[in-house]
Amino acid sequence: MTRPLALRVSDLTFHYPDGRMALESISFEITEGESVAIIGPNGAGKSTLLLHLNGVLPGRRRYAHSHDFPVPEHQHTDEPRVWVYETPVVEANYPEVRRMVGLLFQDPDDQLFCPTVLEDVAFGPRNLGYSTEEAVRIAREALAAVGLEGYEDRLPQHLSFGERKRVCLAGVLACDPKIVALDEPTSNLDPRARRQFIELIRSLERTTLIATHDLELVLELCERVLVLDHGRLFADGPAEELLGDERLMEKHGLEVPLSLRYGRRVPE
Ligand code: ADP
Repeated sequence: MTRPLALRVSDLTFHYPDGRMALESISFEITEGESVAIIGPNGAGKSTLLLHLNGVLPGRRRYAHSHDFPVPEHQHTDEPRVWVYETPVVEANYPEVRRMVGLLFQDPDDQLFCPTVLEDVAFGPRNLGYSTEEAVRIAREALAAVGLEGYEDRLPQHLSFGERKRVCLAGVLACDPKIVALDEPTSNLDPRARRQFIELIRSLERTTLIATHDLELVLELCERVLVLDHGRLFADGPAEELLGDERLMEKHGLEVPLSLRYGRRVPE
């Protein structure tokens, strides 16, 4: 049985309000169950692309978990460029789309805003219409899933960076999205926290998109890679093939990962 399309992006172009072109004619499709990395140098458009998947951009209204971007008038169009399953990502569908796409921000402090860890993780399910009691039960389960049992009453600002990232992931999981989009999930993590996070991502078992500079993570978790640079999609193909392509990597400010270069890739 062929698996359904989880995501379709078609000719997506986006300028920030200052006129900067962040994405130019981006098109790709992702099948349900795929794990896909978005790689590219700083400023390539990776975060901007992820923010389009659940309508944070281009947004007219403030999204509770996000920044407020005033978007130029000409981009206030309801013509869809992104589809999640069959649903076009347009303002009228944002609630439905946000139920399907869980977004982990690069900086946990952009995502956490409640006084306690439990309240923060329960916010999503509450928003989806669960009773307070149910939302708390779901939040406790999600915290346990990321190894943060016992952290319920802690204050997010008193946690380490890695713990705050895991609280954010719990918040995403608590909404049980079909698609998880992760922006630099391992940046600023020490080796142990990075390893824990990689194993957590591996355990998600759902359609996953990961924007990252951590190319060893890509080799471990993703079968497919999109190479973005200057807002354009330059390559879309099998992870090992593209990451092992020295010319492609160098051309876009990247490096062939050491494990591929020296053949020291640890088998799973
Ligand atoms: P990446 O995630 O690949 O580092 P970004 O999506 O953050 O890239 O940025 C893509 C481009 O958009 C960059 O040129 C960046 O400077 C610009 N950009 C990002 N955020 C904003 C913003 N809020 N206002 C104006 N330009 C922005």
